[in-house]
Amino acid sequence: MAVKYDIAIVGGGPGGYVAAIRATQLGAKVAVIEKERLGGTCLNVGCIPTKTIIKSVRVLEEMRRADRFGIEVDHPETIRPNLEKIMARKDAVVNQLVAGVEGLFKAYKIDLYKGRGRLLSPNRVSVETTSGSISPELTELEASNIILATGSAISRLPIPGIDLDGVIDSNTILSLKELPQSLIIIGGGIIGVEWAGIMAPLGTKVTILEALPNILLPVDDEIRQRFQVSLKKLGVVVNTGAKVEAIEPTISRRTEATRGLDPHSQSEKLTVHFSTAKGPQTATAQMVMVAVGRSPYTEGLGLAEIGVNFNRRAVISNERMETNVEHLYAIGDVTQRIMLAHVASAEGEVAVENIMGHSRVMDYRAIPNCIYTNPELASVGPTEQELKATGVRYKVSKFPFSALGRAVTIDETSGIVKLLLSEDKGEILAAHIMGPDATDLIAELVLAVKEQITAEELSQIVHAHPTLSEAIQEAALGGVKGASPIHFKR
Ligand code: NAD
Repeated sequence: MAVKYDIAIVGGGPGGYVAAIRATQLGAKVAVIEKERLGGTCLNVGCIPTKTIIKSVRVLEEMRRADRFGIEVDHPETIRPNLEKIMARKDAVVNQLVAGVEGLFKAYKIDLYKGRGRLLSPNRVSVETTSGSISPELTELEASNIILATGSAISRLPIPGIDLDGVIDSNTILSLKELPQSLIIIGGGIIGVEWAGIMAPLGTKVTILEALPNILLPVDDEIRQRFQVSLKKLGVVVNTGAKVEAIEPTISRRTEATRGLDPHSQSEKLTVHFSTAKGPQTATAQMVMVAVGRSPYTEGLGLAEIGVNFNRRAVISNERMETNVEHLYAIGDVTQRIMLAHVASAEGEVAVENIMGHSRVMDYRAIPNCIYTNPELASVGPTEQELKATGVRYKVSKFPFSALGRAVTIDETSGIVKLLLSEDKGEILAAHIMGPDATDLIAELVLAVKEQITAEELSQIVHAHPTLSEAIQEAALGGVKGASPIHFKR
């Protein structure tokens, strides 16, 4: 006989596990079906492992410039990364956080079914255990409501050579045993650029190939231009308008290298063929990383059989997270609306609150976007180019970190806070930050955008001194009629 639940959630990533905890807090009996480890992409192969590795890279960068802070190192050339130890720390952090979620599941008495979920009807799910056998007592769950939170999978680039040795992706790069001397990253999106910022300081020569006219296309143009200067300083080569068409082994070069004719090319084992406005071109590297996006994960879910509306592979849900099938909800990457962990979690809370009778809609107006490069990039609301395109009347106010006391004390002065304000009332429509701790600083501006706070109101909030947050207050002051920042004069 099927076990009965108020809510069954397919997928235990940041969408599914947060929904499960929130639902239990509201009194529901909850089951989660997860085919791998709890935590999904974010905890296991996404946000958490990459940010852990990035911390190691920041320590390395700080040590290399220890001299600037008056700290002497006898043999600076001996400061070097140990990839095995960096990866071991990454694994330990991931394990600790996954264990934390497992502990919360136990504490909240959430039933976890390890296996692949499949919809049998709008209120029945089958669970196929990962070993492939169907265990009789776990065959079927019955639930008054089901939430689909299956996330996304790495998009494959359908080109010749994609399966060659040395071609990696954002999952397999997390198991690297040795640092490649050179790496071509196909795709200049968030993943491509974050990994360029990891690998280049570790000593790998990085080339990004991006098909579109710019890398990081959703970023504000001015911020991107400033950021590209930092990428250049790292030695990252960026080729835009470069559509990759094939990858092949670098046979001839390898032969020469073996003969000792060209020792430099010994490491260049793969040739990437790409086309640009100038015609066909090639680039060679020891490894190639593919980072061309992610696609909703709907394989084997049984969506079509029960009549769920979907567009290509993304499940369509409304702002209450309801699909077209009654009592069936969809949240997170599987909806392809905004593929970010914090959005999935927020959507999960909205779904369970609606199920439990607390009517709520998801508010997409103020979603933070964070990119963990050095310097960090963070934003909320539209870019300046988007405001221009939609004809909104706006004004801009900026403040540079180079003029901020706290930024000077920590020697991280590159970047700005840029506010986009409504022309009439000075309401904060959007904010774009490049600079130290931008990914944390943005929280205050998310609140400002969500609550339609004006520059004047924000400028009157007392910010602690000396802190990086003062850059926000200064930028706000610059947007007030008759005022300007205190510590910066144009
Ligand atoms: P993306 O969509 O951000 O970028 C992929 C890039 O690859 C695009 O710029 C695209 O034009 C390019 N591309 C596609 N085909 C190409 C080809 N044949 N040749 C050259 N370039 C090509 O995807 P991503 O960077 O893989 O990230 C996937 C998802 O993960 C995104 O939704 C992202 O928001 C999310 N993510 C977020 C964070 C964060 O919040 N810090 C970090 C990593 C990933």
